Amino acid sequence: MNNLRGKRAILYRRVSTTDQRIHGNSLDAQRDSLRQFCLTNGVEIIKEFQEDHSAKDFENRPVFQELLRFVKLRKNEIDLLLVTQFDRFSRNLMLSLGKINELRECKIEVNAIHNWTNWDSPNHFIPNILNLSLPESDNRMRAYRTKEGLRQGLKEGRYNGKQPLGYMPGKDAASKVLMQPDPVKARLISALFKCFATGRFSQNQLLKDERFSLLKLTKSNLSRILSNEIYTGRITLPAFDEEVETTIIGQHESLVSMGTFQKVQEIRNHRKKQAPKAQKFNPELPLRGHLKCPKCSRNLTGSGSKSKSGIKHFYYHCNSRLGCDYRGRRQEHHKAFNTLLESIRPKDGVAQLFEAILRDEFNTRNNSAVSELKQAEKTLKTLQNKKDALLDKLLEGIVSNADYQTHISNLDGKMNEVNAHIDRLNGTDTGIEDFIPFGISLLTNLEAVFEKASVETKHQLLGSILAEKLELKGGKYRTPVFKEGFGFIFQSVSQSVTR
Ligand SMILES: [Zn+2]
Repeated sequence: MNNLRGKRAILYRRVSTTDQRIHGNSLDAQRDSLRQFCLTNGVEIIKEFQEDHSAKDFENRPVFQELLRFVKLRKNEIDLLLVTQFDRFSRNLMLSLGKINELRECKIEVNAIHNWTNWDSPNHFIPNILNLSLPESDNRMRAYRTKEGLRQGLKEGRYNGKQPLGYMPGKDAASKVLMQPDPVKARLISALFKCFATGRFSQNQLLKDERFSLLKLTKSNLSRILSNEIYTGRITLPAFDEEVETTIIGQHESLVSMGTFQKVQEIRNHRKKQAPKAQKFNPELPLRGHLKCPKCSRNLTGSGSKSKSGIKHFYYHCNSRLGCDYRGRRQEHHKAFNTLLESIRPKDGVAQLFEAILRDEFNTRNNSAVSELKQAEKTLKTLQNKKDALLDKLLEGIVSNADYQTHISNLDGKMNEVNAHIDRLNGTDTGIEDFIPFGISLLTNLEAVFEKASVETKHQLLGSILAEKLELKGGKYRTPVFKEGFGFIFQSVSQSVTR
């Protein structure tokens, strides 16, 4: 070490919360060492600086910035900037070198009392660089280890990121970290998926739906929620080093069945494809989009045009550019539509009777689904037994580890298929079951519902009732083709009326 007697120094001390907790590298300890060093070597202390900020960069350290301003004002009175170790100065190699050079141009030498560097000696160049790079390398190792630790958790099926909406931090029976369903929000998340899976609601409608207000949904987080596989109990393990991305069965409780999740994805993909041609709703022409041209069977559109007297008249018309001149007055169509609604309304007092009949009929149809379900569960049991037997064989050394892995993943694949099938069976059941009371109340109040509804709801209603577009014939619509659920109800209704 050169002779430092008579040199003037500023001292810089830094500590972050981690340092204090882990390394016991307190500001007091740094202060004592620095002062002791100056006293021993006859160095004059001009000013002392200290702060508790991380050492990622210099810009975000307010005290260090103050130090630089001080240096600018009094650079001729300063020879040294002293720290206890270089990692107090910076933990980033490139930034360290840059700043050391910058200060050197002001004739100020940066040095660390615990690993003193001779900047002028060429023999010290490599050790110097190593010294400066150690903190950064240490940081990188720590980050890598953290990442590895997190991945290990994921591989064990323990999701360790920030809990997705609907879960909260928790522990399993063995006191290991495992997120748990939030007592209130978890049910809302399940309901949200089920709602969207019916296909009757758009994302915008869910955003406005008061039932979900507690979830504080926004456009972007709703979309993220609906596509997050974690709700089905699965975890995505991202690609890392040489490992490719994989899906892992998590240990956390699922909130959404695989069948519902897949249905939601289908709907989302389907809507995305259709998104560009955004439908325009015109309250004046609520049937637009649900009518078929009586002349050429293309879809009818509609528009209004002003007559000479200035009154606007509305028409449902065909596409003249494609050579069809069909043009029907709005009034004519709406009258026919009302007639149609009247014709499908059941007579007073029959509704309850329908419900009983419908449930009966539903149960008959449902029996086949029930037996299918039983069969699937049996298959599932068999597969599980095979898995157990395979494990026994592995333990007894009859099969090799590699063979075991192949067979297990084969069996797991089959089990996933069966599970998805079960979900689908369960899903369809509740679909029709839910539709019975809904369909009946709709059927008995159709005209009133339709009259009061907004144009969006009208479209939605028509969309959920009609499987094909309406076609005007002789001032009336032809007997409409109904969607499965509604058609099922409508048929039973008309049969019991005529019976
Ligand atoms: Zn036409």
